[in-house]
Amino acid sequence: MSFRNRLTLFFVLIVIVPMLSLTVVLFTLIADNETGKQDAGVAARQTAAIHLYDEARDAAGKALVHVGRDLKLATALRAGDQVAASRRATVLLDELSIKRIVIVRGTSPFVDVGSTTAVFPATRPLTDTDGAPIGTLQVSTSGPKSYATLVKRVTGLNVLIVRGGTILADTLGVGGRAPALPAKPATVEVAGGKYRTAAFRVPGFQGAQIRVAVLGSTAKVRSNVRQSRLFAGALLFGFFTLAFLFALLVSRSLQRQIGGFLEAARRIGSGDFGARVPTVGSDEFAELGDEFNRMSGELEKKIAEVEAEQARLALAMRRIGETFASNLDRDALLEIVLRTAVDGSGAAGGRATIRSRPEAQLHQVAQAGSLDDLTAALRQAEAAVLESGASREVTVGGVTALAHPLRAVQQSEEDGPPRITGIVSVARPGTPFRPSERELFHYLAGQASVSIENVGLHERVERQAVTDELTGLANRRRFQQVLSGEVERSRRFGQPVGLVMLDIDNFKKVNDTYGHPAGDLVLREVARVVREASREIDEPARYGGEEMAVILPGTDVEGAFQLAERIREDIAELRLPIRTAEDEPLRVTASFGVATHPHSAADPRSLIAGADAALYEAKHSGKNRTVRAAEVAQS
Ligand code: GH3
Ligand code: MG
Ligand code: MG
Repeated sequence: MSFRNRLTLFFVLIVIVPMLSLTVVLFTLIADNETGKQDAGVAARQTAAIHLYDEARDAAGKALVHVGRDLKLATALRAGDQVAASRRATVLLDELSIKRIVIVRGTSPFVDVGSTTAVFPATRPLTDTDGAPIGTLQVSTSGPKSYATLVKRVTGLNVLIVRGGTILADTLGVGGRAPALPAKPATVEVAGGKYRTAAFRVPGFQGAQIRVAVLGSTAKVRSNVRQSRLFAGALLFGFFTLAFLFALLVSRSLQRQIGGFLEAARRIGSGDFGARVPTVGSDEFAELGDEFNRMSGELEKKIAEVEAEQARLALAMRRIGETFASNLDRDALLEIVLRTAVDGSGAAGGRATIRSRPEAQLHQVAQAGSLDDLTAALRQAEAAVLESGASREVTVGGVTALAHPLRAVQQSEEDGPPRITGIVSVARPGTPFRPSERELFHYLAGQASVSIENVGLHERVERQAVTDELTGLANRRRFQQVLSGEVERSRRFGQPVGLVMLDIDNFKKVNDTYGHPAGDLVLREVARVVREASREIDEPARYGGEEMAVILPGTDVEGAFQLAERIREDIAELRLPIRTAEDEPLRVTASFGVATHPHSAADPRSLIAGADAALYEAKHSGKNRTVRAAEVAQS
């Protein structure tokens, strides 16, 4: 059920239903009241009519006394002379202005003269001289017509006089059959008209009963009732209209307020968190509105925070991606960490500095934001870190700076405290850093420190994987890789690749004579000579045991031969710090084989085989010399 329908129902229940009941009760009361008033009026007039009846009876009584004393009548009665009695009675009618005289002897009428419609008789028992009852005497001096006219004149109301079922007289001029006339006040219909009446009964001639009814017309009552009801109805209608208008007003205002809430709630639902409810006054609705507005304000703030957080998260994700992409390059890593630290801690700017050796000057490798106004504070914070060996926070001229040390890998316990290899620092003017910002900064810088350590470890392992430990030259695996790459390049760009292979002469004897460590020393020295003779782009390698090789990109047979010869001469001139039996410095020689691609071989394997074969030949033709590989047919 909608709010509007509920309000309507509420209005119907508390206003319309009671008002309808009230109308019914009021209208009934009005009708009852008017009827009661009329009944009282009719009753008063009836009393007057009864009074007039009493007077008529009194008059009849007086006439009865005269009739009773009449000697002629008495004589005729006593003689049982009915004719004489009737004649005398007829005379008395005129003399005494009597309307009717009835004398009953036993049960049958003896004398009955005058008008049969005469009413209100006075009655007296007749006795004989002994006093024994012999009948009754009834005398009337009133006719119904004159009584009715009199009553109407006195009371102003119509009158109905009924005997048996017949109207004796009435002031309405209807006559005929009489309607039922109750003794208690009731409404009766006479000649098409409605009247309020209450009839009274009086005795008539010979035990007959006469009913007299005073008729109060209901027309007046009806018009009174109509008027009173009209008035009450107008009053009720006025009240109803007022109540209706008021209810309409309240309903409208409620609907407007609730509509406002609904509208604002819908807008918030659709993502517009700036929606506000207009609040007026200080009622519960206003309070609700204030609460609603406060709630949406909070929501708006929270959403903004969440959005900012999301943006930050997105940035951080991108940086993590960049970190992966940076392939663990130290400077790129520091740059990313620094930028994240500046954003995450709400700093204005910052920098990352490192140094290659302990005690060397720090130099900047990454910067975020403008450092113009921050340099003094940054420098002071970095100095404090170097001095204390721990992270520091300083404030210089309203600028707060945070600095965190980056540390080297700790090789072993004896190395002492890990040395500081760099510092990440951030700063901002104004508000000092909050604990959460400080915490995030130190966390990031700490992670950076660990990452850079890992980069160092990674680089070392990588180096170790391709380097021969004893001589520091490329190992055999690296040699194979580089040779394959160079041959491939040579194929593509048409540049030759030279390969020199050498084997130290009679090396076994060195080992046997001076011991294995001496042999190692010889190997290291020869390797140094080989390395020093090589160009930057060449790749000297230890091929295995006391065999070494140099890959010479872009070098033809002659170039390779000349380099081999130079190395051979340099080795021969070495004076090793090992004393011979003749107390002279030990000297060694080496034999060389030279091959080139594509001159003497088509692929890396045959290039090595060619150089090896040449080396073998050098050994067999006397050692300490260089032999070129044979040329192969070009395909
Ligand atoms: P040739 O003139 O024919 O080359 O004679 P050679 O004695 O040099 O030849 P051979 O191949 O018989 O000897 C190589 C020796 O090098 C055998 C081995 O003990 C020694 N050797 C191989 N690797 C090392 C090493 O790393 N250190 C030391 N000290 N000796 C090694
Ligand atoms: Mg050998
Ligand atoms: Mg040898």
